[in-house]
Amino acid sequence: METLSPGPKPLAQVSASSLAAARAALLAWSALLLAMFLLVGVLLISIAHHLNVDAGKHARLDIDNALMSDEKAAASAVKDYAFWGDAYQHLHQTIDVEWAFVRQNIGSTLFTDLGYQGVFVVDPTGRTAYAVIDGQLQSVAAQDWLHSSIDTLLVQARKAAADGKSLSRLVNVDGVPAVLAAAALTPGTDPNVKAASGPASVLIFVSKLEPARLEALGRDFGVEGLRVVPAGVRPTTVPTMELRDNAGLVQWTSDDPGQQLLVLVVPLVAVAGLLFGLMTWVIQRRTLAAARLMDSHYTSLQASRAALAISEARFRDVAEAASDWIWEVDAELRFTYLSERFEAITGLARAQCLGCTVDEVLTSEQGPLSIWFKEHAHRTHATVQCNYLAGDGQARICRLSVREIPGQGYRGTASDITEEVESRRRIEYLSQHDALTGLANRTRMQEFLEGKLKASPTLERPLVMLSVDLDRFKPVNDLLGHAAGDQVLNEVSRRLQGCLRGDDLVARIGGDEFVLVVANMSSPSEVETLCRRLIDCIELPFSIAEHEVFISASIGIAMAPADAILAEELLRYADIALYDAKDGGRNTWRFYAGDMNARIIERRQLESDLRHAIKNEELRLDFQPRYRIEGTRLAGAEALVRWEHPQRGLLGPEVFIPIAEETGLILPLSHWVLHTACNAATHWPEDMMISVNLSPTEFQRGHLVARVKSVLADTGLNPARLELELTESVMLNDEKVALGIMQNLKELGVRLLMDDFGTGYSSLSYLRSFPFDGLKIDRSFVDGLTASGGDHSIIQAIVGLGRALSLTVTAEGVETDDQLNALKDVQCDEAQGFYLSQPIDAQAISELIGSLPK
Ligand code: C2E
Ligand code: CA
Ligand code: CA
Repeated sequence: METLSPGPKPLAQVSASSLAAARAALLAWSALLLAMFLLVGVLLISIAHHLNVDAGKHARLDIDNALMSDEKAAASAVKDYAFWGDAYQHLHQTIDVEWAFVRQNIGSTLFTDLGYQGVFVVDPTGRTAYAVIDGQLQSVAAQDWLHSSIDTLLVQARKAAADGKSLSRLVNVDGVPAVLAAAALTPGTDPNVKAASGPASVLIFVSKLEPARLEALGRDFGVEGLRVVPAGVRPTTVPTMELRDNAGLVQWTSDDPGQQLLVLVVPLVAVAGLLFGLMTWVIQRRTLAAARLMDSHYTSLQASRAALAISEARFRDVAEAASDWIWEVDAELRFTYLSERFEAITGLARAQCLGCTVDEVLTSEQGPLSIWFKEHAHRTHATVQCNYLAGDGQARICRLSVREIPGQGYRGTASDITEEVESRRRIEYLSQHDALTGLANRTRMQEFLEGKLKASPTLERPLVMLSVDLDRFKPVNDLLGHAAGDQVLNEVSRRLQGCLRGDDLVARIGGDEFVLVVANMSSPSEVETLCRRLIDCIELPFSIAEHEVFISASIGIAMAPADAILAEELLRYADIALYDAKDGGRNTWRFYAGDMNARIIERRQLESDLRHAIKNEELRLDFQPRYRIEGTRLAGAEALVRWEHPQRGLLGPEVFIPIAEETGLILPLSHWVLHTACNAATHWPEDMMISVNLSPTEFQRGHLVARVKSVLADTGLNPARLELELTESVMLNDEKVALGIMQNLKELGVRLLMDDFGTGYSSLSYLRSFPFDGLKIDRSFVDGLTASGGDHSIIQAIVGLGRALSLTVTAEGVETDDQLNALKDVQCDEAQGFYLSQPIDAQAISELIGSLPK
């Protein structure tokens, strides 16, 4: 596409993620702050340390000074006493204790007033000549009290005295630092005392630095809590100092200026740090939010670029690969653009179509497209279905979606929907038609019927509805297979259609049920002619896989507007008429009669009359003989009930059995029949069977097995002579229950026959799975048998089946010699019918038996 712009730049070139950038910047900033605070911390600690060290140095100096001043005082005091003529006389030349101690010249006052615990005078021989300890005169050697030698001290003191000086030092006395001052005794400035030659005695003052004194001394020099460290203790956190001359270890309470600085500054720094942190956090949040916003802008920019790229790619894909083709026409509706796909899909050459008008290429059921475009293309989602001839000459269908390009023309896409339209048509057709025969189905029929009824048919020109049901179709299915059944149905459909005009409708609405909707019938006799023709058509033989199959049909007729004007009602009435036709012996037709109400009333009356029939002995049993076909020997008889109605005369079972079943009167009625029949049979020869019909309702209630047992007991009939005739409707309700009852009946020793075989739906499968001893072919099959062959195949199949299952096969309704011979041909076991004998009363059958050769 020439109009497409080149692809978008990769987004990385447009912008890095501002979120990431902001994060990085903030991280750097936070790191910087942290580093700064760490530096400040280290500086603070180092300053504090230095301050502490400085303070320690100062304290040590102060302590030194304090001790030195104390020493100075002691030195000066000892000098005062030693450089004194009287002392020289009384403590060196002689030891005058009287002068020194008693008169208190150098006595206890030195202790009490000046605090010298030890005062000694050591003579030139090194002997302690005079000692005052704690103010008491004692004879103790100075070195013993001091626990150290004093020889050096004595020499130094004498030397110093020569220079007019005393000396002092620190010592340790009994673990306590002490200040010692010494001076050699000299006459001093006393002119009356002459210094002798030779070494002089030495005066020694010792003052112990007791705790209170040490603390006071320290405090005078600004050192708090100065104290001696007890021996053996080595404190680590508190500053200490080794005194000169091994006098001892002292410590003091440091005011720790560094600590103070830290205590003062650290909280400030912490607060500042917190504030910075907080600010950083706030800034970070804002910045990140802003960055996120930017990023989302970037993302949406990215997204829209990507979307653009995708949509362009998509357009390319759609244009080049999709099944749709793309077109553009100018204002004159001439093609100016056709995508490549156009050729692949339509098989037409682009070059030839470009320049052609829309109408030249496409047609629409909506009229010329040139007009349609002008009228509809401005709408959103304007689409139009078009037809065109493809390159291969096939008609195809496409759906154009059309967009107006204001002032320039139109453009859009075209999708090929040929298959879609066809399958839609097919679905529509299938939903309206029967898949097997292709006839209209019930839905279509109802639509059609409703359409016709809207046209308001008149009495003169009525709308006729025929409900057609095939007779004897089911066995075709059962015995010849479904494929054969389907063939028959298809053929029936063709025949029915063949009987109608083009605008009439034939529908298949069930297995073998058809409905015909016929218009333009001028009289009932015309309808009857049609029915006759329909039945005749269906009765023609069907050749299905080497077989000739004969079926027939019953027809119910309802007409609009005479019977009903609603589709539903018309259908229902046609059905009612159909049942009537079937009741009437099949192969026939019935018009719906509007005497339903009258029938209902009549039925009610019969119901109440039936209640008294047994008690009033109005019931009667006839017996219809049954013969072995081989040799035509009497095999048994079927008991058939009649009602001698006081007003209505003789009524057949088809009139009152259904009423008896509905009202529950079937139980007493059946019991009466069973008892009467068995009783009658006891008078017959031992090899003659008695057949009794059972109603399906007796299976559901009424303790059938117990009743049969008690009747056999009452009458004394050999159970093996009793045959019970059941129709398949017995099994329809609950197969398990039915099977159970049948097995119990079999245990009593009676025989079971399937009656009316072939008229139901599943006769065949029931025969296989239930314990039957015989079957009776419905008389409608026998009807079809003729001398010339006729409906042989079905009967033959049934007989074959019976043989295979070891069942006695009886044909009912044998009315002619032909039929009997045909049955002989197919080797049917037994036969029953008017040709052989009508049902006759008990008296008559006894006579019949009596007349037979023994
Ligand atoms: P079904 O069991 O099929 O009985 C045979 C019916 O066919 C009898 O009609 C009989 O008269 C008739 N039939 C016999 N041979 C021929 C023939 O050659 N041609 C023609 N067209 N008909 C023939 P029926 O007696 O009117 O009985 C009708 C149905 O009533 C019976 O059909 C049976 O199903 C029922 N039915 C009769 N008696 C009793 C009964 O005692 N108890 C019960 N539950 N149902 C009964
Ligand atoms: Ca029967
Ligand atoms: Ca029957």
